[in-house]
Amino acid sequence: MRINQTQLELVDKQIKRILASGNYYSGVYKRAGISGVSSYEDFLKIPFTEKADLRNAYPLGIQAVPDEKIVRIHSSSGTTGKPVIIPYTAKDVDDWATMFARCYEIAGITRKDRIQITPGYGLWTAGIGFQAGCEKLGAMAIPMGPGNTEKQLQMMIDLQSTVICATSSYALLLAEEINKRGLRDKIKLKKGVIGSERWSDAKRAYIARELGIELYDIYGLTEIYGPGIGINCPGETGMHIFDDYLYTEIIDPKTGEVLPDGEEGEIVITTLVKEGAPLIRFRTHDLSSIMPGKCHCGRSYPRLTTIKGRSDDMFKVHGVNMFPSQIEEILGEVDGVSSEYKIDIAHDDLKNRDIMMITAEADGRVDFQKTAEALKTLCKSRLNVTPNVAIVSLNTLPRSEKKTQRVFDHRGD
Ligand code: ZN
Repeated sequence: MRINQTQLELVDKQIKRILASGNYYSGVYKRAGISGVSSYEDFLKIPFTEKADLRNAYPLGIQAVPDEKIVRIHSSSGTTGKPVIIPYTAKDVDDWATMFARCYEIAGITRKDRIQITPGYGLWTAGIGFQAGCEKLGAMAIPMGPGNTEKQLQMMIDLQSTVICATSSYALLLAEEINKRGLRDKIKLKKGVIGSERWSDAKRAYIARELGIELYDIYGLTEIYGPGIGINCPGETGMHIFDDYLYTEIIDPKTGEVLPDGEEGEIVITTLVKEGAPLIRFRTHDLSSIMPGKCHCGRSYPRLTTIKGRSDDMFKVHGVNMFPSQIEEILGEVDGVSSEYKIDIAHDDLKNRDIMMITAEADGRVDFQKTAEALKTLCKSRLNVTPNVAIVSLNTLPRSEKKTQRVFDHRGD
């Protein structure tokens, strides 16, 4: 989706503000000879912003306003090295709450709802974002934070919470507990707002069924306000992104080339009005595509398809790009197969070709040999690669609370 004139003028203002601030990016843009934008061609010349650059600017090098305008900071947890710190002005905090309140509205949540918030409060942007959006909307916030399932269930029953905000893993845990304790009749939940991450359709279906609720994926990342910059509307028709605050592009993660609507690639976001830490063309590494056409709900905000995975997770077999999520989709279509799996890739030096081995779990009622054949056939037709497949019994593969490593590349071992 090409940038429109209003957005272009806002980007021009952002660049001029960055240059005047003398922050980390003022140096980057000065060196690149960028002084503003007056056309789409100018915009395309602006270099991408990488998370690694933000680390170079630690702690407050990307701040673009004087200290007295900053009211809060948030921080994204760095798995390696320094974290990234994002400073917010009062307007940034307010704009974020406005977007988040819109998300709740799109999900059909109103001032009469009682919203139980289980994501964490603190340095990261989760809990406080859900809370600010709720208050902006005028609904009742129940700010639980994470954990303490006993207390969560008690509050859910006593206060008759109608909306649950959670990660998909915690929503699943709550659904299992409610099921186990036979509390289904005592709860009044109608909707779940779930932090967007890759989660399987099976998990989604289980949570929706056990809690009897509609589920909404909320999108966001700390570098760009936090959660609440996009959400799907009823009917799972992609996530609306607020184009009065953000300009979204999809690029080829390898070449950086901007892709047309409908093609899958990496989401790149430009903040149009952010003051504390404006970011232009920030590479999210999240994979999605822009959905062409109008949404049935009548809203004109552009839409992104559900996040497919991270470009960092991409792997190559016989020169074909693949994502773990594609394997997950295929596993989900075969009867009796669980959502746990592992992919090993090696190189056969004699035949000079890559070998992909998928290990998946299936329950005892299905024939492992036939299941393996079914997976092979699907991989061949969808991915154009025929893997070796090993089917093992349920609960053989290791489970992890955190992100599980799925792909093991032995080429070059
Ligand atoms: Zn819609």
